[in-house]
Amino acid sequence: MELFTDRVFIFHRFVLLTLIISFVAYFDSKSAVKDFTLIAGGPEEIAVDQAGYRMEDQKDFRIGRYVEGFKILNEKNDVVFRGKVTGPIHDQFADADVWKGEFTELKIPGTYKIQLSDSICSWTFKIGNDIYFTLFQTLVRGLYVSRCGFAVKDDAVSHPPCHLHDADTLLINGKRIPDGRDATGGWHDGGDYWRSTMSASQAISRILWPVELFPGAFDKVNPLLLPKERWGNRPDIITEAKWGLDWLAKMQSPDGGVSTGIGPAVFHMPPQLPPQYDPVRHLIGAVNSSHTAKTGAVFARAARILKSYDQQYAESCLVRARLCWKFLQEHPTLVAPKTNNVYGRNEDATDRIWLAVELFRTTGDKRFNDDFTVRFKKLDSAYPKAPVSTQTIRNYNLHEALISYCFIKIGADKAIQEKILAGLLGDCDRMVAGSMAEGYGNVLQAESWKERHTNGNALQMAWELAMAAELTGEKKYREVALRQLHFVLGANPLGKVFVTGVGSNPVRNPHYRPLSIRNLAPPGLVVKGPTHDKDYVREAFCGTPPPPEKSYTDLYATHWCNEPDIEVQGQIIGLAAYFFATALNSSH
Ligand SMILES: [Zn+2]
Repeated sequence: MELFTDRVFIFHRFVLLTLIISFVAYFDSKSAVKDFTLIAGGPEEIAVDQAGYRMEDQKDFRIGRYVEGFKILNEKNDVVFRGKVTGPIHDQFADADVWKGEFTELKIPGTYKIQLSDSICSWTFKIGNDIYFTLFQTLVRGLYVSRCGFAVKDDAVSHPPCHLHDADTLLINGKRIPDGRDATGGWHDGGDYWRSTMSASQAISRILWPVELFPGAFDKVNPLLLPKERWGNRPDIITEAKWGLDWLAKMQSPDGGVSTGIGPAVFHMPPQLPPQYDPVRHLIGAVNSSHTAKTGAVFARAARILKSYDQQYAESCLVRARLCWKFLQEHPTLVAPKTNNVYGRNEDATDRIWLAVELFRTTGDKRFNDDFTVRFKKLDSAYPKAPVSTQTIRNYNLHEALISYCFIKIGADKAIQEKILAGLLGDCDRMVAGSMAEGYGNVLQAESWKERHTNGNALQMAWELAMAAELTGEKKYREVALRQLHFVLGANPLGKVFVTGVGSNPVRNPHYRPLSIRNLAPPGLVVKGPTHDKDYVREAFCGTPPPPEKSYTDLYATHWCNEPDIEVQGQIIGLAAYFFATALNSSH
């Protein structure tokens, strides 16, 4: 993940020319909307989920101009559905009037395209209940290809084991201390080659959620990993979770404290080279209490969920979670010495809440509930508003913790559960209203579009909506959650799939250093998404940038919008897994 302007950004002036042309086209289409003149466009103007739709779900496309009508054609070009658009609803973040063409009644599995009355056709899409099965497999593989210290086998990014000997020294308060531990493993953190315990713990936590909600649902998914890459005959999602957990275990000191991760001493962007040639010297980060609490929470969660896959391994996770707890009891205030440049945090209160919740949910031990209760009462509200910043997605652990507490059936404080649920539903109702008010249905509001990680933020909110649906049975929350996934998968004003290798118009040039191996993107990586981040708009556009939902460039250099990140990968896997599993269950 890159925090600052990439100084190796020498060809952005060339990009400007392309963008100016697009910008002129944008204004042309805007004036066309106003006088309802039909203009010839391309498939990208028909906002449709290019992965597809489940049979019973609401199905529609969105378009930023009026059309007389539309048809849906099957693979033989037979017309199987005819309809009229409705609207418009103005979308303030695409600055467009948006019409909707609904085809929910079409429930026959198959491959289709939309043809507008002026003959413009959409990209193809599928209808079927296996949509999220394929997507889920592809996204889990997106984690696998980011493995560090491992011989990755992939058509696009095969490489020998990397970063095997560059982290033998610990950095704390300017001192370098020799450290003999094996620090290999984990995942490269997004487009960079450092490895963060914070990102890894959040990704693991999210991919394990659906495994717990739908026991056994993933056990029959055909593996994409090779037999020798797998953890026995367990599904890929469980193998990947263990890959991350094994590395987190290496980042834990004997006293229980957990390092920030592996990274350079000062902020430094490595050149775009295959990982085995990375010249940057990495150091082991010092123990940080925030990272210790997060890692402990995910170990506690894994101990509960992995029991049915390997009792002994699950027990070892619980031992590690308790060790994190012990460290934090012995260090009741923030521990955050100056160390390497891998997202050290200077706040740990919300992470300590998360650890208490997960330990209580796993063990039923009242001590952990008591600790949670005391900490909960110090919060500003029962469900504080999520902070919005460029790195907002890192602060969602509090919501992860509070929602997790609502799922505890025995021993939890019912009054607190009710307060949290009321807060969650209030937030979700605001998200539903926000989504319904916008032509393309994204939940993000003005302040969020000024930050990076718009896909990550919308997917996080989608997860909260999905969990609200699980807790209440309310369908409206599930539909708006699904709308966010549709947006990321092509139902947006650019007709762009913000995931590599999915659909007809996916991201092709993510800010992902292993791209240097064959100049090919492996499938299944989700990128940050369009943004009005001030650094991005200053560097990438001349004058006024396009509206935020269209402010995106599929270029390696534009990391602000086009970099994948491990924790967002976890978010989209969690959501795809949720909709895959709910397709198996007709009550959803
Ligand atoms: Zn590596």
